[in-house]
Amino acid sequence: MEALVWLGGDRLAIDELADVEAGEGEVVFEVVLAGICGSDMHAYRGAGGKRVPPLVLGHEAVGRLAGEDGLYVAFPLAGCHACAICAEGHENLCPDRKLLGLDRPGTFASTVVVPRSALLAVPAGMTADVAALTEPLATVIGVFEGIALRPGQTVQVIGCGSIGLLAVYFAVSAGCHVIATDPVAARRQIALDMGATVVDAADDFAARSAHYVIDAVGIEATWSAALRSVRPGGVVIVVGLGQMSGTVAIGEMIRSGITLKGSYAYSREDFADALALLARVPINTTWLERMPLRDGPAAFDALAHETTSAVKILLQPEGVTD
Ligand SMILES: [Zn+2]
Ligand SMILES: [Zn+2]
Repeated sequence: MEALVWLGGDRLAIDELADVEAGEGEVVFEVVLAGICGSDMHAYRGAGGKRVPPLVLGHEAVGRLAGEDGLYVAFPLAGCHACAICAEGHENLCPDRKLLGLDRPGTFASTVVVPRSALLAVPAGMTADVAALTEPLATVIGVFEGIALRPGQTVQVIGCGSIGLLAVYFAVSAGCHVIATDPVAARRQIALDMGATVVDAADDFAARSAHYVIDAVGIEATWSAALRSVRPGGVVIVVGLGQMSGTVAIGEMIRSGITLKGSYAYSREDFADALALLARVPINTTWLERMPLRDGPAAFDALAHETTSAVKILLQPEGVTD
C-alpha cells in the first residue's frame, strides 16, 4: 500500500508498505480523503508527543470498504473500555486511549485498519470533502459539551484555522453573534463569509463582552485576551495546544466568576452529531484543498511555512475516486 511515513521531525517519505490485515472485529478501510490536522503538524514541527517514528500519521479519514459504494468516516479514538472515565462515556479522556496516527498506523495511506464499530456511514449526497470535516467538527462539538448555546449569545473565536472556522460554523448555526479573529486577513475573510464579524486581533474584542470565548490558538497571549474579553460569569474554552504551560490571571477569573475550561477531542456521540450537523447545515468549503497523497511532504511544508492559502489540506491516495 501507498503510505506517507513520518521519519521524525520534518522528515516525511512516500513509501510502499506491506498490505495491512484486519484482526478480530476490524476492517481494512480504503482511504478516499485524509485531512492533515494541527496535531499532525505538531509532530512535523518537532512536538510529536507519544509518536514514535517511523509512523504513518493522520487520524482523519473518509473512505470505503472494498466492494461497497457508500462512504464512511472513521472514529479514530479508542478508550480502554475498562476504566471509570470510559464508563462515563469520556473515552477521549481515557488515560489509556489509543489514537490512529499516534499509537497505531494512521490514515495517510491507501488503507488503514480500524474497528468495524468505528465506521459511520456518510449520508447519501454529502461530498467526501464535507464528510472529511466530521472529525474536526466533532472537536468543536466537544468544546461545547455541556453548553446549550442560545440564539443572540456572543461567541468569540480566537484563531481561524480549521477548528476556529468550524467553531464559527457551529456557533453561527446555533444563532449566536460570532466575532472571530486571526492574524491572516484571508482567514478572517473566510470567517466573515461563514457569518462571523471579524476583528484584526484578539485585543480588539470588547472587554467583558462574550458569553463564550473559544481559544483555538492556546498561548499565553490568547489565554489573557480571552479572559479579558469574556463577560463576568462567562466561559473560556481553550482547545488550541499552542503552549503547554504559562501564566493566567487567576485573580480576575475568581473575581468575575469566569470558568476556564480545556477541551480535548470528542465522544462517539459528538462525532455522530458532527456528521448530522454537516448534513443539515451547508458549510463553506473554499478553505479546503485536495492534494495527492504522494505530495504529502510538500503539503506539510506548505502548511508549516504558510505558503498555501488552504487552511486545511485533504490528501488523496493514488488511483482513488470519490
Ligand atoms: Zn484532527
Ligand atoms: Zn478507559
